[in-house]
This record gives sequence, C-alpha cells and structure tokens, in this order.
Amino acid sequence: MLQQVNGHSPDSDAQSGKSHREDLREFLGREAPLHQLDDLTKVNPVTLETVLRCLQARYMADTFYTNAGCTLVALNPFKPVPHLYLPELMREYHAAPQPQKLKPHVFSVGEQTYRNVKSLIEPVNQSIVVSGESGAGKTWTSRCLMKFYAVVAASPTSWESHKIAERIEQRILHSNPVMEAFGNACTLRNNNSSRFGKFIQLQLNRAQQMTGAAVQTYLLEKTRVAYQASNERNFHIFYQICKGASEDERLQWHLPKGAAFSWLPNPERTLEEDCFEVTREAMIHLGINAPTQNNIFKVLAGLLHLGNIQFADSEDEAQPCQLMDNAKCSVRTSALLLQLPEDMLLETLRIRTIRAGRQQQVFRKPCSRTECDTRRDCVAKLVYARLFDWLVSVINSRICADPGSWTTFIGLLDVYGFESFPDNSLEQLCINYANEKLQQHFVAHYLRAQQEEYTVEGLEWSFVNYQDNQACLDLIEGSPISICALINEECRLNRPSSAAQLQTRIESALAGNPCLGDNKLSPEPSFIVVHYAGPVRYHTAGLVEKNKDPVPPELTILLQQSQDPLLAVLFPVNPKEKTQEEPSGQSRAPVLTVVSKFKASLEQLLQVLHSTTPHYIRCIKPNSQGQAQTFLQDEVLSQLEACGLVETIHISAAGFPIRVSHQNFVERYELLRRLRPRTFSGPGRCSERSPNGKEATLQPLLQDILHTLPALTQAAATPGDSDEAT
Ligand code: ADP
Ligand code: MG
Repeated sequence: MLQQVNGHSPDSDAQSGKSHREDLREFLGREAPLHQLDDLTKVNPVTLETVLRCLQARYMADTFYTNAGCTLVALNPFKPVPHLYLPELMREYHAAPQPQKLKPHVFSVGEQTYRNVKSLIEPVNQSIVVSGESGAGKTWTSRCLMKFYAVVAASPTSWESHKIAERIEQRILHSNPVMEAFGNACTLRNNNSSRFGKFIQLQLNRAQQMTGAAVQTYLLEKTRVAYQASNERNFHIFYQICKGASEDERLQWHLPKGAAFSWLPNPERTLEEDCFEVTREAMIHLGINAPTQNNIFKVLAGLLHLGNIQFADSEDEAQPCQLMDNAKCSVRTSALLLQLPEDMLLETLRIRTIRAGRQQQVFRKPCSRTECDTRRDCVAKLVYARLFDWLVSVINSRICADPGSWTTFIGLLDVYGFESFPDNSLEQLCINYANEKLQQHFVAHYLRAQQEEYTVEGLEWSFVNYQDNQACLDLIEGSPISICALINEECRLNRPSSAAQLQTRIESALAGNPCLGDNKLSPEPSFIVVHYAGPVRYHTAGLVEKNKDPVPPELTILLQQSQDPLLAVLFPVNPKEKTQEEPSGQSRAPVLTVVSKFKASLEQLLQVLHSTTPHYIRCIKPNSQGQAQTFLQDEVLSQLEACGLVETIHISAAGFPIRVSHQNFVERYELLRRLRPRTFSGPGRCSERSPNGKEATLQPLLQDILHTLPALTQAAATPGDSDEAT
C-alpha cells in the first residue's frame, strides 16, 4: 500500500538520502524517534516538554548538536569527543553541496556563515553569537569555529614559508591560550571560566582567505585579582608562574616553592589550564619575547606580594595603620618587583591626600584599616586591568591585517550568559543588560528573516503573542530616566546616599514600567528587574560605589613613579588621561562610570552586529557537575528559558514549524490526496492563486492528509511493510 502512497520506491530519495517513510513519520511528528529529530521546530507538538525530551534523547545518544530553527543548540558533552572535531570533518562540511542538510554541527553553522560571505555578489559581513551560561561551552565553541576557519579559510602561504613568516591563522589561534591564561579562572561553575567577554573579527580578503583578526574584550572581572570567592581561584596565569617557573625565575620573581599568597587560594589544585609552557610558547608566537614575558611575570609576582601586605587596626585615628607581622617583608618585595619606592608605596596605601578650599590646600589623612585594604586592592586591579588591555592591544597589533588587505569579516561573539545569583550587583546588571540587548537583536533579526520568507512564499502570517523586551531595555538604559541613568546621577552628584535611598529613587521614578518587579517583601534594599529570562533581584548596597570605580589620584601617581619598563608603558605620565580617571569631587569633567563605559562599548558592538547577518549558537550545560552522560531536566529547562530558546520556539510555533518547499511538498504528497476517504469531499480550492502566483495547494492538501491520517500513520508505523508491500 505504501508503494502506492509514495508512488515510487519507498525507501529512496536520492537528494536527501531519506526514505519517504522516514519523511512521512517525521512529518507526522509522532513516529520519528526523538533522538533522530535534528530540528527542535519539528517536535510535535512544540512544547517545552517535548523540546526537553528531544534534547535529552539526543544527548543520551551522544548527539550533541540540534537545530532550533535558525539557532544551533550545542549540548556540552563533558567528555572528549575528538571524532567530532577532526579536520577531515571540517573539510566534509566545507565540501558538502548543502552543509545544512548534514547533521547539525558547529561546522555547519561555520560553513553556512562562510558561504554567506562568499556567495553574494555584494559580500555581507557575518557574525556568530555564541551564548549560554558559564561552563556551557561558549569558549569551546568559539575556539572550534576559529579552528574551522583556520582550516577552510587558510591563507595560501605554503608550509615551507611557515619557517620564515608564520601563518596568520596559526597566530590567531595562539591568541586563545594567552587570553585564557590572563582572562580565565577556575570558578564554581567552570574550571576554565572566561572572566571577560570577547568579540573576535576574522578578516577575509576577496578570495575569502583569512588575512587577519581583531579582538575586542568586554568587562574583565578585575576584582578577581584581589578577591576570590571561596573555592574559586585567581586568574590562571598566577598559578602558572608559581608552578611553572624555573629555579632561576623563582629567585628573580621571589617565588620560593610552596610560598603562600593570600590572593592565590587553592594552589594545591592543579588544572589542565595551569600549563605555563603553553602560555609562554603562544606569547612567543605573538611576538612577546622572553625579556618582555619576564617583565610581565615579574610584575604579576609583585602583585602577589602586594596582596600579602596586611594592615592592623590603628589605635589612634591620627596615626597610620600598623603593618601585621611579615607584612614589612611583603612591602619590600612588592616594591622591589614593581620597582616602586618602598616608602612611597607604604605611604600611598596608608595615607589619603585631600585637596580642599579655594587654594586647593593639601590635607593628609591616615586611612582606616579597611581603607588601606581597599587602596591595596585598587592598585592590583588597576595594574592587572591595564596589563590585560595592553596584552590585547599587543595581540591585535600582531594579528590584525592591514586595512586594505581585507574586505569582509566573520565576527565571533563569546559573552557571558544571563546571570541570576542570590546576590546580584552591578556586574550582573551589566551582563544581563547585554543579554537583553542581544536578545532584542536576535528576535528582531529572526522575526524579520521569517517575515521575509513568508512574504516570498506568499503566506499570510502574523505573530500573536510575541513579547517584545523593549520595556525592559527602557527600564535599564532608557533616557532620561532609567536604572542606569539614576545610578549615574548618584555618581555625578557624589552625594552620600544609602542603599535604601537608591531603592526608593528607582522605585518611585520607574514605578510605571511593567518590568520593574514587585519588591515588597525584600529584606534588603534592592530592586527587581523582570528580564526576558526571568526576574532578577539586584541589591543596591555598594552599587553606586562600584559604578564609580574610583581610583584615588595618589595611586596612579604612585604607579607613574615606577622604574619598571612595563609599568612605565601602562602608566604614562599623561595629564589628559589623569583627568579622565580621577573624577574627584571638584572636577567638572563628565564622570565616566562603569555603566556608561559598558553602555558605550555595547552600543558599538550592537552596531557591528547590526551591520552583519547574524547566526546563533546557544550552548547548554546538561548538568552543573560537569559529568558526562548526565542530563538534568530542571537545569536544562532553566537554561532553555534563560537563553531565550523558549521564545525562539514560541516564535517558530507561531509561524510554521515545518518548512517544505512548495514544489517538494506537492511532489511528495500530491499522491496522498488520491487516497482520501470517499466521505471527504475536498473544498476544491486547489486552483486558488497565492500572491506570488504559485498554486496555493498547500492548505487543501494538508487538510486532505489530515483526513487520511489514521490509515496512513498505521501504515507508516508498521515496520518492514514497504518492501513486501503490494
Ligand atoms: P563557557 O565558555 O561557556 O563558560 P567553556 O567553553 O569553557 O564554557 O566549556 C567548559 C568546559 O566544558 C570545557 O573546558 C570543556 O572541558 C567542556 N566542553 C565544552 N564544550 C565541549 C565539547 N564540545 N566537547 C568536549 N568538551 C567540551
Ligand atoms: Mg568562556
């Protein structure tokens, strides 16, 4: 019977490799084994539960990639799966006539993106946005894409010339271990967690060969250098130098074996990331030579000793704080390594200078113990953040192509995912704000893409329950009044303001916004933002101070006195820069707050993204313990919600989840109509014309199929009946 249904051989379809039976089962939804559904929009019905079950079935069958409409969902295998990333496989996707017809894979996204740049008469820049929570696999995925392009878009330089001038794509790949050593750390959620956001622009010439790259970083978590939550670690590089230094270097950097540093918690835990040699080797490839490396590591050792300077409470407020036992030695070593005058270092940490009055008289005030600690930490954060930025600029100078040598680019964005902790502060506000912006960009693009497709197909279609996140963005960044504006205002006014006052100001000024959550039962001063991914409570305590991120002028002046060549580069004596970084109460210069800097860089990023055709990869962590073969439904569910996949699928469901081209559909299913029961008389609309002039046969055809469904599903579900069918 099925032979009649299909009209010809039931098990072959030369083009797609699928049998008509498989196709029919897939089309009917219920019969296809879940793990074989490679697009989540095909699960039937599209609900969170079916999506979850499908992902689980695929995960348990070691299938880690699944399409969800225009998005790729990547489940973290938490185990090595080398066969999935072989160069041969990269070439297979690269050579495939239609890579999207192969199994879902990050290479498929990579290849389609690459072809988009390549195939158009007017080339369009592309971007791939990789998102997901910490440990979900974003950095892995970005690295994978970089390796993919290093293979498929390699410059034609022969390997012989490799000895003379290194291939650019290799150099680009070497930027990863360096940036990860300095910007990644072991956290509770990921042993190799990136503590910064990254956008890398892979630059292609007219022949679509990679000629260079440029990296832009966002919001390095610099506080980690001086503060690590329990069971977390500092940036990898500190452990690398302590574990990997040679005897000679240990002497030079004052790092005897087994030395204890208060900013180096959990040193006994050795990670795969602690490989100093890999970092050094990569730095060499990036043109950072041994003496410069030595200088960098010496400064880092200086910071470790700085962290061991502990102060005791002062009994007399008029006197500077005393040093704790052994701290004197730390001051000396730190000053030596950072090449700072020892007495000036100690004085700057313990004494504040205040300018007041018309004459700007200078007053010197001893700091409290807490203030001393804050100033010490501030020096470390300042040095580390500038060192990181400097490294990024050095990397860029080594990998960036000449402006005339590239015409298009593929951008890879690896940013923090949506975050919601018991205690959320300015960092989470910035991260979630960025995610809100990216979600808006995603939805706008996705809707537009669908709309265009349906218009071309001549289909009437409208989204009904679609939720726009503009109100939430208005709440966070809107003008003139928003959360960011209010926090900035507090910084500008520089007035003493309690956490409770800030809460009241936010709540009264923004009461009308539907995304400001009900916060009546809060025990602490806070406000709630209802994000697209769920409500998040932000505590207001310390928010304004964090936003100011104040750097006392004396600290910069201190670092400008350093005789160290690297610190001299990081802290040039530059009056212009001084006014920017030191927004003291007397200065009238606009205050560059953390929020306003972040907002500006985010807007720049969005501008770049808007100028590209975006592609999306959503990384999902199947469990928070990092275990293979373990799929925890609750944890995945919350990520599906947080990464907006729920929205995507809703949008897909609001549209048409199954897309078969008009011609294919008619070719495949026209014969089914003839099988319709006699009782059903078709409405005879087969010759209706769609706006684009195509025969609008889809709807009546579908209805016919639905009427013949019971008989057909039975036939399709009976195994092995096709071959013997008569
Ligand atoms: P994120 O950047 O999202 O925080 P990572 O990319 O650092 O997460 O991934 C965390 C860890 O998960 C990696 O160090 C690696 O061990 C593992 N991992 C992620 N993706 C894969 C993959 N495709 N195959 C094997 N292991 C992976
Ligand atoms: Mg990462």
